[in-house]
Amino acid sequence: MFDKFREECAVMGVYGHPEAANMVYLGLYALQHRGQESSGIVSSDGKILISHRQMGLVADVFKEDVIKRLEGPSAIGHNRYSTTGQSHLRNAQPFVVEYSQGPIAIAHNGNLVNAQVLREELETSGSIFQSTSDTEVIIHLIATSKESSLMGRVVEALSRVRGAYSLLFITLDRMIAARDPMGFRPLVLGKFKAGKNRDGFVVASETCALDLIEADYVREVEPGEIITFGPKGMESLRPFPAAPHAKCIFEYIYFSRPDSNLYGRSVYQVRKELGRQLARENGVPADLVTPVPDSGVPAAIGYAEESGLPLEFGLIRNHYVGRTFIEPQQSIRHFGVKIKLNAQRAVLQGKRVVVVDDSIVRGTTSRKIVRMLRDAGAKEVHMRISSPPTISPCYYGIDTPTRSELIASSSSVEEIRKFVDADSLAYLSHDGMYVFVKGKTEGFCDACFSGNYPVHFEDEGHTRQLHLFDALQQR
Ligand code: 5GP
Ligand code: SF4
Ligand code: MG
Repeated sequence: MFDKFREECAVMGVYGHPEAANMVYLGLYALQHRGQESSGIVSSDGKILISHRQMGLVADVFKEDVIKRLEGPSAIGHNRYSTTGQSHLRNAQPFVVEYSQGPIAIAHNGNLVNAQVLREELETSGSIFQSTSDTEVIIHLIATSKESSLMGRVVEALSRVRGAYSLLFITLDRMIAARDPMGFRPLVLGKFKAGKNRDGFVVASETCALDLIEADYVREVEPGEIITFGPKGMESLRPFPAAPHAKCIFEYIYFSRPDSNLYGRSVYQVRKELGRQLARENGVPADLVTPVPDSGVPAAIGYAEESGLPLEFGLIRNHYVGRTFIEPQQSIRHFGVKIKLNAQRAVLQGKRVVVVDDSIVRGTTSRKIVRMLRDAGAKEVHMRISSPPTISPCYYGIDTPTRSELIASSSSVEEIRKFVDADSLAYLSHDGMYVFVKGKTEGFCDACFSGNYPVHFEDEGHTRQLHLFDALQQR
């Protein structure tokens, strides 16, 4: 079985830089929010591929001696996050394999929708899988391809997979970047500033990684594009028929860093615009606006600007919360949220509060936040969400829970309001979500908010499971 649609990831690659692995390390650091479970880098010194993969955060995985060992002018890296039981080192990327023409490594962000079908086919004809990750399918397709050139093999392999992929490969003398024809997951191209480090290229999930290493943003890797970086420079190929684009809207709403430039727009500015629209659609008499930090901050700024209400930080976030902590005794209420957020009485006492967040998933955190605001003296709590209700899971590489766990899949807004115990609750409208492109919805995926999936999930077992969830919803 695969670790299906339960992965969030970052990819980062550098070609033609004397300290490639070091640059990739810094890029992965900037992309830590996209995956916190494992991290890995594979570099090429021209003779061999050198690999280091480990469970943990980027800062813990790569120490000075490890980076020193990752020699050579090209390197790719990966951060991975998964919440299922399949959180093993063997699923950590980049994957490295040896095939008839030498070693190759791969790093993948996204999820394939036909990986199970392809895996069964490959196993029947003798391929032996080492992981439960869908990404390994791509490597086996490349290794078993009858094409002679590397590019031929990559094109053939990618023509067989469906779904979401933003990919990086390296071989001894090349780096390849590829993005699926619908462009679900982001991928950007950058270049080191002229004269500084020869003609080095960078490819990364988000532009915030380029900023850190002082590379210039060139453009997006286009949906359906395959770029090869080699001794002769950069070459772009578009071997597949054009498809309607389905760029992930949720990257704007929650997932990308606000300081990234995504699909040609500032994430921060888009989030502010969503907050403004939220205020236009769902204004309410109140004394102040407060964000749920960090993800709700830009939308709350927009909401406050539009509504003319003061913005206050009624919730303060502890930025040093790690992934593990000692479970408290039952007697400490709401501990899980309290360790991360604290409500300030000095700001909230006696106030009518609009609390702005980007989304509600299960509703359990939101419920605790409302309680914390009330406990700190808020007189009224009006929850405002800068996206429409999250009603469906993502199959394209964002770790949303199953349909049955999404509170909005089976509850009305009024039922959710009761559950989170707010005085009022309102979400951004579906049309309002597209305010930043003047209502033009083409080119985006919004399946988790609309249930309209641009590519259907083809794997037998899971399709059946999803039908079961749907059947349960009918009751
Ligand atoms: P809930 O009330 O549904 O338990 O939690 C809502 C919070 O979850 C919001 O603050 C939102 O920013 C956050 N959130 C939304 N989507 C995701 C996601 O995909 N992963 C994680 N870890 N948090 C998310
Ligand atoms: Fe993004 Fe939602 Fe589409 Fe997944 S389903 S790619 S999270 S918009
Ligand atoms: Mg949040």
